[in-house]
Amino acid sequence: MRISFDNSYMRLPDRLYRLVRPAVAPQPKLIRFNHALAEELRIDVEGLSDDDLAALFGGARVPDGAAPIAMAYAGHQFGHFNPQLGDGRALLLGEVVDREGRRRDIHLKGSGETPFSRAGDGKAALGPVIREYIVSEAMHALGIPTTRALAAVLTGEPVIRETVLPGAVFTRVASSHIRIGTFQYFAAREDHEAVKALADHAIARHYPELAGSESPYLGLLRGVADRQARLIARWMSVGFIHGVMNTDNMTISGETIDFGPCAFMDAFDPMKVFSSIDRQGRYAYSNQPGIGQWNLARLAEALLPLLDADQDRAVEAANAMLVDYGRVFQQAWLDAFRLKLGLTGAEEGDLDLVNDLLTLMHQGEADFTLAFRALGKLAGGAEEGGFTALLSAPADPAPWLARWHMRRGATSSEVQAAMEAVNPAVIPRNHRIEEAIQAATYDDFSFFERLHAALAEPYAEKPEYADYRTPPTPEQVVTRTFCGT
Ligand code: AMP
Ligand code: MG
Repeated sequence: MRISFDNSYMRLPDRLYRLVRPAVAPQPKLIRFNHALAEELRIDVEGLSDDDLAALFGGARVPDGAAPIAMAYAGHQFGHFNPQLGDGRALLLGEVVDREGRRRDIHLKGSGETPFSRAGDGKAALGPVIREYIVSEAMHALGIPTTRALAAVLTGEPVIRETVLPGAVFTRVASSHIRIGTFQYFAAREDHEAVKALADHAIARHYPELAGSESPYLGLLRGVADRQARLIARWMSVGFIHGVMNTDNMTISGETIDFGPCAFMDAFDPMKVFSSIDRQGRYAYSNQPGIGQWNLARLAEALLPLLDADQDRAVEAANAMLVDYGRVFQQAWLDAFRLKLGLTGAEEGDLDLVNDLLTLMHQGEADFTLAFRALGKLAGGAEEGGFTALLSAPADPAPWLARWHMRRGATSSEVQAAMEAVNPAVIPRNHRIEEAIQAATYDDFSFFERLHAALAEPYAEKPEYADYRTPPTPEQVVTRTFCGT
């Protein structure tokens, strides 16, 4: 196999990372390899068997040119600062420049202990690997910025959690693994030189247009805020709940990262929480935009010495960034929901129209995904019953439907098509992910494969995947998700 590594992170000051060898998987077995993505990354796998791929992406064999490192980072976890986190069960194998000239990280998760493992074993269980594979690829298919899945490999070694589970290694691809927490790690140590080196690296990599500008570090901060605002608006538009928006799980690139106890909502509830460890609901659906802003304030603090020699002016600039974040989010969110409702242009009452629909859906416990899909059909001339049947008793949709109709205009198949292009038909519903994980634990990967295939074109209503569009029955509902780390 040939991977043309070009490891730029290694050229940064060596206190940003530790060199680590991956653990050797005793009996690596390939679960899935993303050949299309490999091609995009110019990874040449010609002549390699599945066993070769399992050895290379399960840690048994380190590919030529790779220089595995564990990255140092800190982070606010549920609001509390932890000065030392870092890659405790993951390694950056190396970087490649893809076909489009974009630098991408190839990163193993579950590859054994590192100097950052703390009390952990450095391993990953099969369940979380399956979940991350499915959800990250689904996000990509939905058109939402995200890390990607390159490979999943069984290690042949059991890992011990609440029970004994099959161990696995996940290979993730990201445009980088620089997190807000990476800056916090060095800021907390008052290592301004490292913060600056990291900021310069991040600018060159993700915001090259800022190089040579008058205030590149303020530009970096504003750039991250802008991308995070737009990202979180996209999450909201598909009912996605990240679940652990700690500052170590927020990227500088603006990609979704770290699919732990994440989930897509079925019935709409603005305060929905799935994560078993989020007892206060800090990362509930509706809290996500505000948490994004809180995290950006932590990034601003870490960058403060770079922003302006005059610290009062630096604080002022950081505060202005936070205000702008709110504005950008609000606009991106409203734009996304206008599209979801087939509204063209911008009118005074649009915000109320969207909010009133969400209130109605909450009261009527409507399935988030199906409701927007049904509205699309309605806009194309279908009977109202397709939508109203999704709402339970207390909700009366008639007044809202009349307002929407007034705002939208005549029924048309173009409006329906436009709405269906932004309202997914298939999302990775929790009970289906759970089903795929359960089967995989017993060595049956057919559910995983089929779910993955159903999510490849999430905006299409394919008859062969009709069963993936239906919400869970009361017995199938999954109320809790776990990190599984
Ligand atoms: P996460 O929940 O993936 O955001 O991880 C939070 C922190 O815990 C990171 O520093 C991880 O590297 C670390 N961590 C999670 N699971 C393990 C594990 N099994 N072994 C060692 N470190 C871990
Ligand atoms: Mg993490």
